[in-house]
Amino acid sequence: MKKIFSWYFRANLAYRILGALVIGSIAGILVPKGITLFGDTTLLNVISPFGDLFIRLLKMIIVPIIVASLIMGTSSVEPSKLGRVGRKAVFFYFMTTLLAIIIGLACAFVFKPGSGLVLSDSSAAVSKAAQAPSLSQIFLNMVPTNPISSMANTEVLPMICFCIFFGIGLAFCKESSNERIKNSAKIVFGFFEGVSEIMFKVVRWIMEYAPIGVFALMFTVFNKSGAGAFSSLANVTISLYIGLALQVFLVYCGICLLIKLSPLDFLKKVKDPMLTAFVTRSSNATLPISMDTAEHKMGVPKGVYSFVLPVGATVNMNGTTIYLGICSLFIANACGIDLSAGHYLTIIITSILAAVGTAGVPGAGALMLLLVLEALGIEVNGNVAIAYGMILGIDAILDMGRTSMNVVGDVIASIWVAKTEGELDESKWKHV
Ligand code: ASP
Repeated sequence: MKKIFSWYFRANLAYRILGALVIGSIAGILVPKGITLFGDTTLLNVISPFGDLFIRLLKMIIVPIIVASLIMGTSSVEPSKLGRVGRKAVFFYFMTTLLAIIIGLACAFVFKPGSGLVLSDSSAAVSKAAQAPSLSQIFLNMVPTNPISSMANTEVLPMICFCIFFGIGLAFCKESSNERIKNSAKIVFGFFEGVSEIMFKVVRWIMEYAPIGVFALMFTVFNKSGAGAFSSLANVTISLYIGLALQVFLVYCGICLLIKLSPLDFLKKVKDPMLTAFVTRSSNATLPISMDTAEHKMGVPKGVYSFVLPVGATVNMNGTTIYLGICSLFIANACGIDLSAGHYLTIIITSILAAVGTAGVPGAGALMLLLVLEALGIEVNGNVAIAYGMILGIDAILDMGRTSMNVVGDVIASIWVAKTEGELDESKWKHV
């Protein structure tokens, strides 16, 4: 028994989760539907609460983790450094993120991930989603009248809005010339840094339970809907990777052309950070490689990349944005939830903001998907939880692609800023 446990904890988590996905799916297909264990209790009734437990654990940490990481993210940009380079970088992050969510939604429209799946009895989710507010209300509702009540009720957009205000205020106070204000701001910053670290520790514990939760969720979905669910997972994966490829070829290569650098040369040079991000699934862990590449292979000066890359690794997540667009539509399609124009706008706004709050660590984006669903008014239980569990089961595969794109998005930002500032060492580049 002890041996089994030590084997379990020693095995790579991504493999364990993927293994659970495969075993849970096969078991779900092989075990006859409605098989009973004792009395009226079916095997499905026994297994599915283990999946629900997993979803509850994730929902438990979503508010504290968002509050802490958004405040940390926004307050770590020092206002004094937010000069021309900073403003340009933030503008560039915003524009590429906007294009990313448009590409993500376009792919979801074309490939319709999850639409063949139709998980039944999603009426609860539909009725809740149908009450989504109008366009003008969405913008007004972004400003909370009471931030504490927004947090208590997981009202995502108002919560994010408050945290961004709080974070920027904190960033200014940290640089105040008044020692008293500066010191108190540092204490507050330290507090949120602590909360953020603690929450990520808890996430790691919850993820140790993930294989069991994913097994239960997969068993439930395949037992209910049979082997057809596999094609939905393949569809969502292919949609994401096509979206990521479009972001590279249309947006990043297009930017290279605009600033007269060879896109082919860019793709060759960016290979190392891209591959490192693919295997580590962490923008933060890839930072040293991105910095080295920016300086030595691309001729970006230290003054630019030392700001643009670390900030980008915290707030600029183009791949995650595409993922959020595609996966939220996957869940809506799978559960037969009709989305209105207001919902799409909510997806666009929340995905852009959620990407800012996504930490550059493996799997962080999957938590943000919960946030987008909450913002849409889709309750994560029943079939929505099952569809979410399916996405989570293949998260390692999705995370590899989206992290690569997050990092490439940061690198191209540093090149663009350097070039437009006239500081790029062009001798390192082939031109068009
Ligand atoms: N793993 C991603 C990153 O580090 C974040 C995510 O999970 O989307 O950039």
